[in-house]
Amino acid sequence: MIVQHDVTIVGAGLAGLRAAIAAAETGEKLSIALVSKIYPLRSHSVCAEGGTGAALREGDSIELHAWDTVKGSDFLGDQDAIEFFCSQAPKEAILLEHWGCPWSRTDQGLIDQRPFGGHSFPRACYAADRTGFHEMHTLYERSLMYDNIIRYNEYFVTSLIIEDNHIKGLTAIDLKNGEMIGIHSKAVILATGGAGRLYEFTTYSYTVTGDGMALAYRAGVPLKDMEFFQFHPTGLLPSGILITEGARGEGGYLLNNKNERFMEKYAPEKMELAPRDIVSRSMMTEIIEGRGFKGPYGDYLLLDLRHLGEERIEERLPLIREASIKFSGVDPVEEPIPVRPVAHYTMGGVHANMHTETPVKGLYAAGEVACVSIHGANRLGTNSTMECLVFGGVAGSRAAEFALKNDFEALPKDVVAKEESRIFDDFMGRDGDESIAEIRDTMRSTMESKVGIFRKGDDLKEALRIIKELKNRFNNIQISDKGRVFNTDLTSALELDFMLELAEIVVLGALKREESRGAHYRLDFPKRDDENWLKHTMAYYTEDGPRLEYIPVTITKWEPVERKY
Ligand SMILES: Cc1cc2nc3c(=O)[nH]c(=O)nc-3n(C[C@H](O)[C@H](O)[C@H](O)COP(=O)(O)OP(=O)(O)OC[C@H]3O[C@@H](n4cnc5c(N)ncnc54)[C@H](O)[C@@H]3O)c2cc1C
Repeated sequence: MIVQHDVTIVGAGLAGLRAAIAAAETGEKLSIALVSKIYPLRSHSVCAEGGTGAALREGDSIELHAWDTVKGSDFLGDQDAIEFFCSQAPKEAILLEHWGCPWSRTDQGLIDQRPFGGHSFPRACYAADRTGFHEMHTLYERSLMYDNIIRYNEYFVTSLIIEDNHIKGLTAIDLKNGEMIGIHSKAVILATGGAGRLYEFTTYSYTVTGDGMALAYRAGVPLKDMEFFQFHPTGLLPSGILITEGARGEGGYLLNNKNERFMEKYAPEKMELAPRDIVSRSMMTEIIEGRGFKGPYGDYLLLDLRHLGEERIEERLPLIREASIKFSGVDPVEEPIPVRPVAHYTMGGVHANMHTETPVKGLYAAGEVACVSIHGANRLGTNSTMECLVFGGVAGSRAAEFALKNDFEALPKDVVAKEESRIFDDFMGRDGDESIAEIRDTMRSTMESKVGIFRKGDDLKEALRIIKELKNRFNNIQISDKGRVFNTDLTSALELDFMLELAEIVVLGALKREESRGAHYRLDFPKRDDENWLKHTMAYYTEDGPRLEYIPVTITKWEPVERKY
């Protein structure tokens, strides 16, 4: 079956929903498809906890937000995009307010804002510690107002159809019955989120497997800066559930086994609210040098909130308290929380400019799947949910304008039948003896141990060898469920296929980048090297593995300086 929609959005998290609303508002007569492999309100965006950044107050400014972001990015962020982003953020926060987002308030009834790592002003708008949940519900409800948004919930996109550098649509499996459909479109927006499940210890939902990045890459679109992966300082043990930076924003602090606030040594001014790359590295140094606590799930440090008192914890951090009690058996009102750095954010992604345009005509990317790049080598907390709002909005209106001006182009012959055969004959027909779970576990533990916070050339070479070997073994997997109805065996194989592709790019990019910048820290090259490496990595698909090229960083007014906090 082939259906036709002017604009198709893949992904219904914050970026996808915001894009759908903007597209529907730009072109009332346009038909807009919103495709999601899970029910929209299960998208990872609902997990965002701590806040959404915007300069709203006197004393703060767009300029200051931009400078904090540039410095946080370790000067790899594109400054024109960052300035644009910061200038649009206040509007988006207020728009959400008008659409009913229940922001936490000051006593005067204003949107309250809390401090966050790397920001020099309290600028995180928040809704207790369930910010993403409330933002998602606000956008979802708003999106229901538009009859021209047509929903494809629980459809898994398997390929993008690109010919002559033009997007023409995509193919997707209707998960409830296994039917392969084609969606013929003038414009497509990728809003498929990050790739966090590449790692073992991670804050991400199971569904965040980098599909959109791999789909674009295989269709010839370059991926940018994939070696930059963020580790958040405070993952709850043993699950990896996120303990929001908002906990430190509210005044929580980190302790080692000598009961010292060790951040004093590493970032005397900002302490626990230094950017995430710095806090995570400091924590790992404490652990490596023997000042961590030993536990059945590995070494850890403590996050102490007790001095905040029960009332404040209940009001500002209720989810943190609940998660700590349920998943770690620790009530933060009475005991410090056991934490360790955890994989949390994909700075890299589909190469897109500040108008969300990719190099392919009609194809846009927004949210975590995209690399615009405003985060550079290290994202500041709160800038991601806001990125989804700002650039989701831009992508929606740009794609709609493109669809208003252009006609449908013919689809290649038999494109859906060919994809059906690739998935259901070739892929599902595999009857080897390799287990999907085993390959996935090896990939994740390899990424964790060899491509983590501290990296070394030898480890990276070994990781590359292992990932290539896993890719070979993957050809010999077994998909035991041969049915068509909600075949999770098949979808997890497709997701693993995507992740292996991305893992190779992350490792290769990290191996080639012989410097330390932001979240990418090479023990064998511990200094930032602006002369040789102030540039973005671009990875292009070839049959023999990724080909890397480099493009310059856009600098408007902030020349790189040493980063001190
Ligand atoms: C635990 C946690 C807490 C966070 N807290 C904060 C915070 O406080 N502040 C902040 O700024 N950022 C935070 N972040 C980061 C931020 O939440 C994410 O970067 C952002 O929400 C990503 O949104 P998205 O719309 O790009 O993607 P997602 O919300 O991940 O949505 C992806 C969508 O793509 C769809 N999709 C994916 N693959 C396919 C496919 N093959 N076919 C069809 N559909 C597909 C999915 O169904 C889903 O709808 C947090 C992240 C995590 C993990």
